[in-house]
Amino acid sequence: MSGPVTEQDAAAGAERGLPASPEVELLTAREATVGCLAVRRALPRRARRTVGAWCFADHFGPAAPPASMQVGPHPHFGLHTVTWLVGGEVLHRDSLGSEQLIRPGQLNLMTAGHGVAHAEEQPADGGDVPLHGIQLWVAQPEATRHGPAAFEHHADLPRVDVPGAEVTVLVGEMAGERSPARTDTPLVGAEVALSSGAATVPLHPAYEHAAVVLEGVVTLGGQRVATGVLAYLGEGRDDIVVGADAPARLMLLGGEPFPEPIVMSWNFVARDRREVDRAASDWNAGDQRFGSVDSALARIPAPGPGPG
Ligand code: MN
Repeated sequence: MSGPVTEQDAAAGAERGLPASPEVELLTAREATVGCLAVRRALPRRARRTVGAWCFADHFGPAAPPASMQVGPHPHFGLHTVTWLVGGEVLHRDSLGSEQLIRPGQLNLMTAGHGVAHAEEQPADGGDVPLHGIQLWVAQPEATRHGPAAFEHHADLPRVDVPGAEVTVLVGEMAGERSPARTDTPLVGAEVALSSGAATVPLHPAYEHAAVVLEGVVTLGGQRVATGVLAYLGEGRDDIVVGADAPARLMLLGGEPFPEPIVMSWNFVARDRREVDRAASDWNAGDQRFGSVDSALARIPAPGPGPG
């Protein structure tokens, strides 16, 4: 998915969301539109830019057809994109030549490194299942952010039953199960699905964690949490108790606090403005840095400086 991350998302400031206990901090997501799809942007928020290396979280849908993801070719650098669906299908095409249909319960992980471009399309025979999912970005560290692009698809991820919930491990390790997906920094991402009742989900005490509710309403650390917020859990927890009165689903994100200051702009995760401007200029000039994507959709120009 294309950001676009704007100053509204990423500017520093002191915005706070709903009243929060010291235990769990609730930050209101921002309503935004990507292509023709309404999204709830849970990260970045002014008061919370990153959770581990997680730096972007767009929860979309469920969106009944004809609302769909139709995002034409656009570039990324310095980040991984993590796409996860609860319903519907999306066709990914990128400048590495990858063409991959993603379905619920599967993971698409694209590494941008120095530069990649991709498009996200509604498949021609996409059916009438409402599109529902989340797109996440992970900031790459200095050690890999100038490196080559890559793409992974994982159709079969580890699932583990903790009493009261089923946990699917997208990246990193949780409850003794490790995902085969690439991570460049200490990181975890897991979907927690509850029927009803309570579950104790084990956490890594050296990580900070946050949760984004995808379906239903849960209680986290005693606070009621629905869709449209980022529930920040902080560091130092061995576990979190998640409760629900009805079936619910949430995405749990965590990692070691990311030590490198980042500058996010449009579809780029950089270290300074100069890098952002250079990338925008390279993309608009059709530079080979980002390659080309075989898509019928229109290429999305970068805003700001550049010949295009
Ligand atoms: Mn994208």
